[in-house]
Amino acid sequence: MLVAKNALTNETVHSFKGDIEKLKKLSKDKILVCQECNSPVILKSGKVKIAHFAHKNCECTYTYWENESADHMRAKIDIKERLEVLYPTSSVYIEYKVEETNHRSDIMVVHPDGSKWAFEVQLSRIPVKELLERRTLYQKAGVVDFWLMGYDYNKSTDFSVWKDIRGYSTNLNRITVNEAILINSIPINNILIMKLGKEYWIYNTEVLNAAKDSYFEAKKTLFIILKKKYYNATISMDTQIENNNEVADILLTSKNGTKFAINFIYKNYHDLFKSQSGHSEIFIREVFYKNANINVFWISGVYFVNSQEYYLNRDYGFKYFITKDKDSFIIEAYYTNYYQHKFPAENIIINKVGKVSTFMLEDEKLISNLKLYKDKGYITYNKKCPDCNKTLLLKRQYNNPIYYCNCGYEQDVDVLNCPDCRYRMKLKYSKANIRHYWQCTNYPECLADIDVRIGHK
Ligand SMILES: [Zn+2]
Ligand SMILES: [Zn+2]
Ligand SMILES: [Zn+2]
Repeated sequence: MLVAKNALTNETVHSFKGDIEKLKKLSKDKILVCQECNSPVILKSGKVKIAHFAHKNCECTYTYWENESADHMRAKIDIKERLEVLYPTSSVYIEYKVEETNHRSDIMVVHPDGSKWAFEVQLSRIPVKELLERRTLYQKAGVVDFWLMGYDYNKSTDFSVWKDIRGYSTNLNRITVNEAILINSIPINNILIMKLGKEYWIYNTEVLNAAKDSYFEAKKTLFIILKKKYYNATISMDTQIENNNEVADILLTSKNGTKFAINFIYKNYHDLFKSQSGHSEIFIREVFYKNANINVFWISGVYFVNSQEYYLNRDYGFKYFITKDKDSFIIEAYYTNYYQHKFPAENIIINKVGKVSTFMLEDEKLISNLKLYKDKGYITYNKKCPDCNKTLLLKRQYNNPIYYCNCGYEQDVDVLNCPDCRYRMKLKYSKANIRHYWQCTNYPECLADIDVRIGHK
């Protein structure tokens, strides 16, 4: 145990803090006693375990203290310290007695409003039934219980009760005790707890901060780029949309009065997380723009924390992503399954695509090139083989366009997007013209094609 009672003053004493010599003397003088049975405890401070108390002759009927591992003690202390930082106005106790459950919680946070959060570090296996019983007791006592499981509880075979455990408002978490204590793979000193709906979620402050920083930087960068590019337009940041709470990150009103909003959907990373997609939030917000007659674009962020990639909603059909690459921002656009394109943020333009007749955020360079190919009716490829310096030829291989050389060299070719509708184009061969050409995959709705010429200047 890490906590004892000073029998003279009734104060609680922690084994892991304060003057160890003083503690030793108190324990020698039999002044420190077990909080459960009031029998004297001695201070043990060896090399393996953190300084802790133990009964002299164990007649204590309370089983909590038995066989407490070094990992368990350390986890309790580290979690307590983190919770003290997170909740400075709350009281954080270790080995706290909950009268209603007749059990001691590993760590208990008592908030100023009287609400209680218990943290249980469960490194050894616990029968599912017992876990369920203890959770029920906590629930009856009105205590929110966080379980930090040191083993893969998902592998429990007792599925009949397992379902009931999951039904509780708080979720079960994973704890790893290694050189550092990790909760759900998050270093203990980075954890943050947030209530979303009825559930408590543990977040990584580093990730939340990275999302926020990335959001502010991306917003400012795009704002500056657009301001330079659309100097005739009115552009503002953080603008309220009519008479509601909706705030557009960037609002652009063109000279002819057409309005565009660009919103970053990862600024409230944690808020969005509750719906797992953020889709519903955008669905609600989109109405404000429709009512205000504003074309709106949603951009999600891709950002990195310790070289791990984080992003929101890449799989949920959002069209635009922004990510920082060294010092500049890159926009990744997924217009349709057929049209994906990455381009530097500096190239961004708001463009109405003819056949689709909707506004898109596009790559100015790409668009002007496509326009050029369309006007000329052909595109030239004039790339040399790096091995033999001959002009590379084009062909389709397994449905993909590639460069090839008779010496055996091969290289991928960028797929061309349709100048009219932006669908991907497909490399085809015309026997009549003995030559390749690009055909829009939106054929026959779109009839665009572009001739391929090899080796022209
Ligand atoms: Zn005892
Ligand atoms: Zn070659
Ligand atoms: Zn097309």
